Amino acid sequence: MKTKENILVLGLRSYVSLAFMVFLFFAFIASILTALSKSIDRLLVNIILNIFALMMTGAALLLIASVIYALYIYNKSIINQKLLYPLSSSFKMLLNIIVALSMFLKYNKDSIRHFYIHMNNIIVRSCNRKFAPQNILLLLPHCIQNSECKYRVTNHIENCRKCGSCVIKSIVELKERTGIKVEVATGGTSALNAVQNNKPELVIAVACERDLTGGISEVRGIPVLGVLNDRPYGPCKNTSVDIGMIQKYLHDFTDYDKTSV
Ligand code: SF4
Repeated sequence: MKTKENILVLGLRSYVSLAFMVFLFFAFIASILTALSKSIDRLLVNIILNIFALMMTGAALLLIASVIYALYIYNKSIINQKLLYPLSSSFKMLLNIIVALSMFLKYNKDSIRHFYIHMNNIIVRSCNRKFAPQNILLLLPHCIQNSECKYRVTNHIENCRKCGSCVIKSIVELKERTGIKVEVATGGTSALNAVQNNKPELVIAVACERDLTGGISEVRGIPVLGVLNDRPYGPCKNTSVDIGMIQKYLHDFTDYDKTSV
């Protein structure tokens, strides 16, 4: 059975094996360049070849550091802040390469994306900051609304009549209780516009693996926590979300008390 834990473990394994392939590639190119520089008797060409060989060796070492880092923090809820910036930026960069490679080699992309979101959330949680509720933006995909609902919530979630046929009712109530901002996005561009317009200090984004990894890597300078949506009817229709998970994040990042729900 494909539980979220199983998918995560699969993502970790795929990440490590793909990272190893990329490492071999970088190491191979570095050794070819070094061998070439020894066989050519021209100073300028030698310098250029050695610079590229050094860059490839650096990339290979960075990759090894990134894999060790991933294995180290995988089971942790938070990590030492001193390790955050250098390691998280190299991890994100390399993971983008690995996701692209997984598409080419026909690996299970969603498991790697799942792993990416998991690791991203550990990094964001490790910032250990508190935010005012009005500076937190909860971004939802429009497929979370019941497909037969006639009220349009994409511009104003307050249009929801709280009938309880979808999870929007609970989210409107959560918004009223906590004071966070909530936007329902119709796609990637609309989600980015919502971030630009609201200027939040923290984004909690709900979406599928593909949209979340895209959003996390596209939003710059603002931490984004990813929450995977539930898809009991398949993708993009009548999806849902674990409200308890959102409440837990609000509890961790604000002075909001989830026991008051
Ligand atoms: S809870 Fe709100 S958004 Fe969902 S179906 Fe009812 S009225 Fe529509």
